[in-house]
Amino acid sequence: MSILDLERARGRDFASSWKLTYLTFQPAKEALREALCTLGNGYFGMRGAAPESAASRIHYPGTYLAGLYNKLPTNIAGRTIWNEDLVNVPNWLFLTFRVGKQDWMNFINNKILFFHQELDMRRGLLTRSILFADGKGRQTRFTQRRFVHMGSPHLAGLETTILPENWSGTIHVRSALDGKVENTLVKRYRKLNNRHLKQIGNGVFGNEVIWLQVETNQSHIRIAEAARTRVFLGDRFVDVERHTTMKPGYIVQDLDISVEEGEPVRIEKIVAIHTSKDRAISESLIEAQDEVVWAADFKDLLESHIHNWEHLWERCKISAEADSQRMSQILNLHIFHLLQTVSVNSIDLDIGVPPRGLNGEAYRGQIMWDEVFIVPFLNLRIPDLTRALLQYRYRRLPKARRVAKLFGYDGALFPWQSGSDGREEAQKLHLNPQSGRWIPDNSHLQRHINIAVAYNVWHYYQVTGDMDFMCFYGAEIIIEIARFLASLAQYNESLNRYEIRKVMGPDEFHDGYPDSSEPGVDNNAYTNVMAVWVLCRALEVLGMLPQDRKEAIWDNLALRKEELKQWDEMSRRMLICFHDDGIISQFERYGELKEFDWEGHRKKYGNIHRLDRILEAEGDTPNRYKLSKQADVLMLFYLLSADQLFELFNRLGYPFEYETIPKNIEYYMQRTSHGSTLSRIVHSWVLSRSKRELSWHLFCDALESDVSDIQGGTTHEGIHLGAMAGTVDLIQRCYIGLETRGNILWFNPYLPPKLKQVQFNIRYRGHWISVKVTGDLLRICSRPQDIPPIKIGFIDKVFDLKAGDWMEFKLND
Ligand code: BGC
Repeated sequence: MSILDLERARGRDFASSWKLTYLTFQPAKEALREALCTLGNGYFGMRGAAPESAASRIHYPGTYLAGLYNKLPTNIAGRTIWNEDLVNVPNWLFLTFRVGKQDWMNFINNKILFFHQELDMRRGLLTRSILFADGKGRQTRFTQRRFVHMGSPHLAGLETTILPENWSGTIHVRSALDGKVENTLVKRYRKLNNRHLKQIGNGVFGNEVIWLQVETNQSHIRIAEAARTRVFLGDRFVDVERHTTMKPGYIVQDLDISVEEGEPVRIEKIVAIHTSKDRAISESLIEAQDEVVWAADFKDLLESHIHNWEHLWERCKISAEADSQRMSQILNLHIFHLLQTVSVNSIDLDIGVPPRGLNGEAYRGQIMWDEVFIVPFLNLRIPDLTRALLQYRYRRLPKARRVAKLFGYDGALFPWQSGSDGREEAQKLHLNPQSGRWIPDNSHLQRHINIAVAYNVWHYYQVTGDMDFMCFYGAEIIIEIARFLASLAQYNESLNRYEIRKVMGPDEFHDGYPDSSEPGVDNNAYTNVMAVWVLCRALEVLGMLPQDRKEAIWDNLALRKEELKQWDEMSRRMLICFHDDGIISQFERYGELKEFDWEGHRKKYGNIHRLDRILEAEGDTPNRYKLSKQADVLMLFYLLSADQLFELFNRLGYPFEYETIPKNIEYYMQRTSHGSTLSRIVHSWVLSRSKRELSWHLFCDALESDVSDIQGGTTHEGIHLGAMAGTVDLIQRCYIGLETRGNILWFNPYLPPKLKQVQFNIRYRGHWISVKVTGDLLRICSRPQDIPPIKIGFIDKVFDLKAGDWMEFKLND
């Protein structure tokens, strides 16, 4: 029995945990809702904007195709800077109507009598129902349903049903494709060049289809959209009169429909999108036209779309029972957006996971380190997808090697922000909206992105045991990153230690020392310890490759024995700084910085998440203070277990005591502003077994990150996918104590008191395993299959689990 069936069988009303519902139209909240109600399928995403809207202060109907970027120069603050954007492609959704010769439907001249908008996450369906009255007292009800097809990734559909409640007459429907869109969602980027599209053409295909084709003006990717609009009275197709108007970059089809009081008319708009990057096509326009002509009607497409979602949920659902349904609802929302940003449809694409989803334009849709928070969910459910995401990095290895060489390093240096070709896309200057000043952006010094890439490769392998991937791609990535890190480190003779200088840690508030004009801090503990971890993994990987691949890699990478000796040596002598008796210094001389006046600033500003902006606007800098945007040292306790850390510190000859973890958590907790949504995830995780109440509190805050937009109004620019995935991962790995280490799947559950039961399915080494944890019982069951058994670890004992078998463990014994 599936988890969904179980819920149904229990007769429980889980309906609301699958829905986000809005009962009023609130202009000020519209942009946030658009981000939250985005529909997508891993190939493209469309914000949940009103179909009749165009970009304005209230609405922003953006559509983004995974991996479709364009780069443009802008002259700003006396410099020419280049920025690459995930392009907002032509708006395919546009559809509006008017009654007789009245104005087009709007919320200003009409009185709204009823409003209902609902995102159905189970079915991937967005519905909006409105009843309005015009100046003449005519009441019209309309309902719009839309999907972005999960099974046919190039297709989307919008159905509009209009019911004249107390009048008969003519309805004029306007359906358009609008190519004159720009990337203007994020206010602080608006001074940057944002016109990415060149118009190629538009026209009519047959009687029902209009099309539009554009090309990005730097990356030269053609994008074609074709829309088929049909009208039905009841279920009867009606051939209505159509007028088409074409302007460069814009095509409109107007349809006149005679309607009778009380009789609904239904307009279906089915759209196909193709680009010149697609595989197995001859040309994007031909393909889009062809696809839309062949596409089924709305109802059939919706049905197959829902089937696709059912199967996805079957695989990916996490059931977590707490006192309120809100948690289930938000977890569903988070998984929903993860699967809309990257899905099975992404497996054949050359993409990474943009941290703000396909829901907006923040960070320009570039790929950063957030995958470290996202990949664990995907590894355990759609490992082929993780493999594909890692291939995005592998394909950019040659570029990363060139960048390393350019800066005088060995190996491969992956960029902090990556877009189309793996070049560094982090901004050179960024605007502080609080001061209006453009200031140098040193975030590219976050060399720890390389650690995240290596970490993800290693964990993909731990979950899947995919030695072929390791042999042909993974090992090379890890080794080249190890090489880079080794060349980044310098030997300090006086200390007899290796050091890594001039970097930025995950805490982006510190980009240098207050007394230095050069950017970067020295010996960031997170970077140094994790570099050691990578060096150890590189040595381990070389040891486990089959002989032929080992020889090939030695030859192809021209590895030298001395390099391995040096990695081993470095992994024992990397410098970690400490202050205040056992506090791991976030970076060298951190202990000398001033304490920050948290209370004073809280009183003065209220929201102090972004202390970097506040202090810069005051003419000050965070570099002077002991404060962090997000977890930095604590990331170590998030990514590595206490045992692993003990081993690493021991290897380095530094003390790691029982007290080290709680002491450091306590210290840094008090000095963190949670300026990134990732921060609460990490803090909640590291506190989950010691301060359970506080951890739960942080988890609940993290759950609200987007749905309540707690970061002070950032979600409308795109959701925070790292935090979304992080909350899900807290349930699946942290509370269940699930670890994939040393060819063993470990469990050590410790549910927070508020969590009554957790249930989900995972894929591990070919096994499909259902996991259920209640307050006092862990039950693991592997589906019958003809494959070798796996090893299950429970606390400190190891057992064999055959496919088709199950095992139970009593908790709290
Ligand atoms: C965080 C980064 C993160 C980025 C995208 C920033 O605010 O500091 O760590 O990668 O957001 O989520």
